[in-house]
Amino acid sequence: MHTSILSFRARADVALSDPKLKLAIDRTTGTAERKRAAALAAFPQFDAARDRGKRIKDHVIEHFDHYLLEFERNAIASGAQVHWASTADEASRIVVDLCRKANAKRVTRVKSMLGEEIGLPHALDAAGIERVETDLAEHIVQLGGDRPSHIVWPSMHRTREQVSEMFKQAHRVPHTEETIEAMVDSARRELRDKFLSADVSISGANFLLADTGATCTVTNEGNAELTTSPPRMHIVTAGIEKLVPSLPHAFALLRLLVRSATGADVTQYTTFHCGPKKPGDLDGPEEFHIVLVDNGRTKMLAEAGLREMLRCIRCGACMNHCVVFRQMGGHAYGGTYPGPMGAVLTPVFDGLEQTRDLPHACTLNGKCQEVCPVDIPLPTLLRGWRDRSWREGLEPAAMRFGMGIFTFVASRPWLYKLGASVAVRAMRLFGRGGRIRSMPGLGAWTEHRDFPAPEGRTFMARYASGEGRQK
Ligand code: SF4
Repeated sequence: MHTSILSFRARADVALSDPKLKLAIDRTTGTAERKRAAALAAFPQFDAARDRGKRIKDHVIEHFDHYLLEFERNAIASGAQVHWASTADEASRIVVDLCRKANAKRVTRVKSMLGEEIGLPHALDAAGIERVETDLAEHIVQLGGDRPSHIVWPSMHRTREQVSEMFKQAHRVPHTEETIEAMVDSARRELRDKFLSADVSISGANFLLADTGATCTVTNEGNAELTTSPPRMHIVTAGIEKLVPSLPHAFALLRLLVRSATGADVTQYTTFHCGPKKPGDLDGPEEFHIVLVDNGRTKMLAEAGLREMLRCIRCGACMNHCVVFRQMGGHAYGGTYPGPMGAVLTPVFDGLEQTRDLPHACTLNGKCQEVCPVDIPLPTLLRGWRDRSWREGLEPAAMRFGMGIFTFVASRPWLYKLGASVAVRAMRLFGRGGRIRSMPGLGAWTEHRDFPAPEGRTFMARYASGEGRQK
């Protein structure tokens, strides 16, 4: 999955001009923020759990080689077949080849952002294999011909009114009542027989348990069980950073993941898969494959400035609390992963040259790190990308020129004071009722919102007059 060809600014413009999108984002992120706050208020051990989660992930990162080999050994012992993919293309090719080997006409998928990352939906469609997304939100994304716009709520860019319309157009027996329950029933009727008639199931994994070779997937709809039990082949695709030493470590991280993602104490379903169907089992796949995907992760491991990103457990809290994401949603970021974590990860996958704008889509207010359940220093990592972009000469000439002027002015206090006072006067001139609606040089800001006009005296003037100093 590569970033879309429109530039970041063009995508952001499209998003900011869509009032229905803003309504959909506000509804979802507002609810997520409230629920997370309530969950944390009822869980006073959160800080201790966060420290533990961070230590678990750091320990695995330090001993990646050991745990990867242990996982592979135990997975094979359980009857699984393990495949290694170093790139996204290689990973999707392995999955498509396995589907062909199984003569698959129809595959069911249970939500996996890694599948999006490796371009699996497109690869399956191109191979002529019918792909059925079983997660309700992914089903909405598939009907709309979209991409997910959030890692936990992939269809958050749609209002319920839009979804109702889509279901009426696409479902064989659509709902007649305008309630959420009736819409869910409509999706259930549409999907149920497809679950049962799929040849292959493809799932993601939230954790890979090294000591048993098992995989763990959490869902709120129970579709992991329903998707993976009937077909004769089950393929798990997982990034190698999903490793944990053992079950207690997975549970320690689950306590953080669920509260941070949905504000619940536990997910509705926590599903473990360990090898194919065994003699005496009533159901389960005859073949069980695990595709372990690198796709830039070992590169992150080797770079001190990106290593901490491997702690990410994909909870989505950073984007729910990000002032930039909450204005424009996930599609504007262009890649698979949106929000602050996406702005760090997308340059790893697609190259900094193509994604240089993303690390700038941030006010560096620090909220993302504050809410991150494994304490990833996202603002520092974003600043690291900005720094590299500058050093590699990727910033446009206008930006370099502007920064050169700023450096010249800022390093001469008399000139800085003069410049600041001229700028403040100019802004007062353009201000009406305390707001600036348009002003030369501020177009990128005022195109979609007002800018507060300066009021009263400047900080420098107040400081010079001794105001606020202790007597
Ligand atoms: S960076 Fe932190 S907050 Fe964001 S998705 Fe990853 S774990 Fe969650």
